[in-house]
Amino acid sequence: MKEFRTGQGYDVHRIESGLPMWLCGIKIESGCGFVAHSDGDVAIHALCDALLGAAALGDIGRHFPDNSDEYLGIDSKILLARVVKMLEAEGYAIGNVDVTIALQAPKIAPYIQQMRECLATVMGVSADRVSVKATTTERLGFVGHGEGCECWAIASIVK
Ligand code: MG
Repeated sequence: MKEFRTGQGYDVHRIESGLPMWLCGIKIESGCGFVAHSDGDVAIHALCDALLGAAALGDIGRHFPDNSDEYLGIDSKILLARVVKMLEAEGYAIGNVDVTIALQAPKIAPYIQQMRECLATVMGVSADRVSVKATTTERLGFVGHGEGCECWAIASIVK
């Protein structure tokens, strides 16, 4: 009998000018980026938490503490690859993932396909199992005021 599980993840990072902006492993053309201990890829962080949550393996902060020099400026794709390895060690395979990015600017639509392919490659699944969606918040709240980026992710896993 197969065991199907789902998990959800959520993350927020503050936006400041002059920093690189990474989302779903892709560098976004922008004059500003995310304040973080790692590369600030808020979408990958939400995805890692969704995958870890599905397997009840805790959260990204527990596995990759943000006070550790090991993770200073780290490429979040490395963290995602490690999370996938943890799931594989528990016997899980990824069913599908779905990521939603809330960001006022710049527009993410031109990057969506690249993002899906990047995440799929890192996770070792086909891109048809990876959904990435983006929205603004109609200039409302901290996202709408350009102060931060908010991401949600859902993942299904099976063993
Ligand atoms: Mg984060």
